[in-house]
Amino acid sequence: MSGNAPPGGDRMFDFRPEPVDREGAPSSAPLTVLSVDDDPAFQQSLRLALSDFRFDDSPLRLLTASSAAEAEELLARTPDVSAILLDVVMESDDAGLRLVRSVREHLGNAEVRIVLVTGQPGMAPMKQTLQQLDISDYWLKTDLYRERLQGIVTGTLRTWREIRALGRAKRGLQQIVQAGRQLAGLHDLGEFSGHMLHELAELLEVPPDGVVCVRTERRDAPLSSARVVGAAGRFAGLRTRPLEDIDDPQIRGLLLEALGTRASIETPTGQVLFFDGGELAPQAAVYLATRRLLDEEERELLRVFATHANAGLVNVDLAARLDQVAYCDALLGIPNGNALQRELERMLAMPVPRGCGLLVVDLDQYIHSSLALGPEQGDLLLERMAGRLRQLYPPPCMVARLHEGTFAVLGPSASLVTDPVAELEQGEDDHALPFLGVDAARVDLDAYRGAASGAVATGLLLLRRARAGGHHEVAEYRAEGEAENRARFLESRALYRAVREGRIHIALQPQVCLEDGRIVGAEVLARWSEGGVPVPPARFIPIAEASGLIVPLGRQVIEQACQALQAMERAGFPDIPLSVNVSPLQLRRREFDEELVELVARYRIEPRRLELEITEGAVMSDYQAGREMLARLRRLGFPLAVDDFGTGYSSLRYVHSLPVSRLKLDRHFTAEIDEEGAGNSVADMIIALGRRLGLDVVAEGVETQAQARWLQRHGCPCAQGYLYAWPEPLDAFLLRLRGQGRSG
Ligand code: C2E
Ligand code: CA
Ligand code: CA
Repeated sequence: MSGNAPPGGDRMFDFRPEPVDREGAPSSAPLTVLSVDDDPAFQQSLRLALSDFRFDDSPLRLLTASSAAEAEELLARTPDVSAILLDVVMESDDAGLRLVRSVREHLGNAEVRIVLVTGQPGMAPMKQTLQQLDISDYWLKTDLYRERLQGIVTGTLRTWREIRALGRAKRGLQQIVQAGRQLAGLHDLGEFSGHMLHELAELLEVPPDGVVCVRTERRDAPLSSARVVGAAGRFAGLRTRPLEDIDDPQIRGLLLEALGTRASIETPTGQVLFFDGGELAPQAAVYLATRRLLDEEERELLRVFATHANAGLVNVDLAARLDQVAYCDALLGIPNGNALQRELERMLAMPVPRGCGLLVVDLDQYIHSSLALGPEQGDLLLERMAGRLRQLYPPPCMVARLHEGTFAVLGPSASLVTDPVAELEQGEDDHALPFLGVDAARVDLDAYRGAASGAVATGLLLLRRARAGGHHEVAEYRAEGEAENRARFLESRALYRAVREGRIHIALQPQVCLEDGRIVGAEVLARWSEGGVPVPPARFIPIAEASGLIVPLGRQVIEQACQALQAMERAGFPDIPLSVNVSPLQLRRREFDEELVELVARYRIEPRRLELEITEGAVMSDYQAGREMLARLRRLGFPLAVDDFGTGYSSLRYVHSLPVSRLKLDRHFTAEIDEEGAGNSVADMIIALGRRLGLDVVAEGVETQAQARWLQRHGCPCAQGYLYAWPEPLDAFLLRLRGQGRSG
């Protein structure tokens, strides 16, 4: 095993020329070699032989230990030992080999090179052992004259340097890949460059101390237009400042030089990396203080790093510009709905209380102005509006345009108390025209529970409601409204199941002739119980109407009404009609009349026995189309009644032209009746109107004898109400009919 002395033998002293030492940089750090030997004389001669030894430009630091135990302790404290010259036989015959095992296995140091030396020939360990323990060399002390020793140390250190370089490159590459991954996730140039400085410093194992400068978009812009976008260490305060503000003239000069010559510069105390940015991104220069020259592997790692970082820089810049497109309103140059959404998400991710709110402001005038005066006028109006809003809600509030004339302001609740309606409609001063038709809604984000997308939608909904209600103040979001919405939503799902499973039933409320008290008909009312608890129709009918469920529900009610009519006929009451309530949504379907005809045919019911009650509002809301359907239904023979008559005065004028046969006096007017002073009451007027038009009138909600007497006296033929009967199941109604004897 001996004799593999490095090639070159005695010429081991001719070192490579000193590297160019710009500006007298400190020479490279010493390399540490440990000699472990219990023979002080050998240690002494070793020290002498290596006294003037240098490896490349590095001096040698020689440590000594006189036992394996001492060496082990020393190695644990000094991880940067490059090589060990180790006596095989010390405390025991195998003390040296035991130490090697401990270094490799316990200390886990695979890089340190080990050269075994022994005084006794024949103590050489097995070749296998040498390989296993990665022992570089094995020498007899007697062979170690000065030159050979120096040669051995040089060779060993060279191997160590290669092994260490490999290890470092591997770690460095891992680090670069990791850094690349981290950097790839960043979209902000400032954040990116700050991270880049830290990653770079970590790679080179120096403290982060440097700057990143970016040249503005235009390539022909002067170098001095470069700005600091990232900074660390003593430069930390320079972020966003011009490059010119860097105090150190040397560093400022280096950065300018790198940008000017478009090349990286290496100095003994720092590195300047130049990033070309390619076609897409701006050029950048990075200065990092290293306070030392880099070695060859470090330079290689730096090149790899730079390639990664350049790609990252291009991405960040691209992301920033996409940001501009995706998050900026093209017309006004202010944040758009996406930007607001992103900010909202960030805000709502924070724990309550956030003390923040959202204001939605709409300018109705925009549409009118654009239509009447042209789009340019509309745009001008928006620009004025954006300016005014930004003035009313300065940063940190964010003013964004959502669409058309709708803006949103996001910011601290305290800053949002200003009433935009009052402010905008008042005008800034006497010269500026005030804005017209401003509506606003405010959502307190601490009260709001929900997703970011919902917050804007909630604001817009409030705004619409405010406008529909003609209110002229900022509509406020209330959490209870939200809870109510949620409850209604849950109920709509339960109702959906009930309709699908056929769990909607009917109750019948008799209508009596005021003259003789006989039952002349009944109103069919929908009934729904959930978990044994009845849900009032006043609650579920609006939900059914809002969700469209009223269509299948109404159909089921009509079908049950047909079944009831069949049962009544069999019970001997073939002439008593039933009235069903028909919602505008049912009426608006073009198939409604056909479906109705199909149903009455199936149950062999004459259409004249099925009256359709349509609310006054419904008749009026969709006048023309509604009228055509009503006319068709009337032609088919179905009697029509106007429900809740009197609640929408407008139809009083049209009622004569409607194909209806009955008016149902709304129960509120019945309630107004009292024996004495009802001379000019609505009830009176409606009864008179009915008589004049030849229409039957039914008074709803009759609860007292007094009301009944009054109605009779004023010529109202029919009545319905708790006074006579509560809505009841079909069986009860049939019993009631039998009780009064056959109708005739
Ligand atoms: P409506 O059509 O005006 O029905 C009359 C309502 O007055 C019924 O309430 C009835 O129980 C109640 N009522 C009866 N007598 C009196 C009384 O003496 N005093 C008072 N204060 N109220 C009385 P209900 O059953 O709660 O129905 C409420 C509303 O739900 C109905 O008002 C109707 O608009 C709607 N509705 C009920 N069933 C249906 C249906 O099958 N289809 C549609 N589209 N709507 C329905
Ligand atoms: Ca009704
Ligand atoms: Ca009614």
